[in-house]
Amino acid sequence: MIKKYVNAHIYGNSEADEILIENRQFKAVGNNLPEADEVIDLEGRLVLPPYVDPHLHLDYIFSGLGEGNANISGTLFEGIQRWSDNKKSLTEEMVRERALKGIQKELNHGVQFIRTHVDITDPNLTGMKALIKLREELKDIVTIQLVAFPQEGFFRYQGAEALMIKALEMGADVLGGIPHFEISYEHGVESLKRIVDLAIKYNVMIDIHCDENDDPNSRFLEVLNAFVMEKDYGKYTTASHTTSFGSVENSYANKMLGLFKESQINFISCPTENAHLQGRGDTYPKRRGLTRVKELLANGNNVAFAQDSIADYWYPLGNGNMMNILDNGIHLAHYTHIDEINKAFDLITYHGANIMRVNDAYGIEEGKPANFIVLDAKDPYEAIRERAEVLMSIRHGEYIFKREVRKNELAIDLLSESTK
Ligand SMILES: [Zn+2]
Repeated sequence: MIKKYVNAHIYGNSEADEILIENRQFKAVGNNLPEADEVIDLEGRLVLPPYVDPHLHLDYIFSGLGEGNANISGTLFEGIQRWSDNKKSLTEEMVRERALKGIQKELNHGVQFIRTHVDITDPNLTGMKALIKLREELKDIVTIQLVAFPQEGFFRYQGAEALMIKALEMGADVLGGIPHFEISYEHGVESLKRIVDLAIKYNVMIDIHCDENDDPNSRFLEVLNAFVMEKDYGKYTTASHTTSFGSVENSYANKMLGLFKESQINFISCPTENAHLQGRGDTYPKRRGLTRVKELLANGNNVAFAQDSIADYWYPLGNGNMMNILDNGIHLAHYTHIDEINKAFDLITYHGANIMRVNDAYGIEEGKPANFIVLDAKDPYEAIRERAEVLMSIRHGEYIFKREVRKNELAIDLLSESTK
């Protein structure tokens, strides 16, 4: 069965307007392609590679719902305490159920690649066990990467290092950390050192919750960058959040930007989550809670946006819609020049794929798996301004979903002849 999609506006490819699919792969991308068994007319709509959500917490998704579960102060620290109390009664079945709900939400919005952190500060590794099974079970419809994440601290939680090694041996893809939550600066530094050494030993990527605070003197990003720069491991490493880097002095930021350029470390910003969590100690003016997204991109560093949380102890909203994340993110980061808007989809597609290092299987190119989404808009600018809906999500050439363009019944049409 050969399928052909015609009249496509392919993101980043102004030459081609047709896509041919055979045997789960892109057989050709171009113009006037050969005949097919089925031809689908996209009527000039925008085609993108699938959305990537490179930072999520599937093990505690929806944990913030229900009586008494709200995070009253709205801070990171209350979130950690509430989770710590709740997780003692967690079962694999509960994690599975929550994660499936979360994955379904993300799939419904055109996401096909997810990196999730999984709390390993749990003697039973309940979350990791449940999610390793799901990663395998769902691999045909969604690519999932698992980060062994010491939520309650690498040193602060006794035995975390051994649990992390166990999680690696079970099959975790990435090592995490949370140095700003350790009990002193020295503990934070030592945790990073050990995590970097472990990652290199086990040949896995690194993704650290790093300086997720408003403290302009939080310096773990500098330390992490130094460790991975020395080992030439920057491109395998991601610094998530780094919100304090949005509060540091310009002279310090400029020095660090030079070092990030050298290390090629990656960044993930979670715009909605951190706009919610940060600035809680400020009166006015209130900080936006983001890292220096625009400056890091201009510096040549890879930056991606992510959802982070869906209705958990840290954040009460979220639904896996990356368009919402992108819209918030570009506003908060002032990434709103027309040239920036036109390439902003990179932040929820290619840049996330770079972080997950799935590039070989990602992108609308001949020979790659036929994974893509179609938006209800004719170009990137219109798609972002209108927050366009995903009309189709296709994986290995098959539909994950397709939906009709919304139509209003009895709508007043101010532009029609009769109302002019
Ligand atoms: Zn996180």
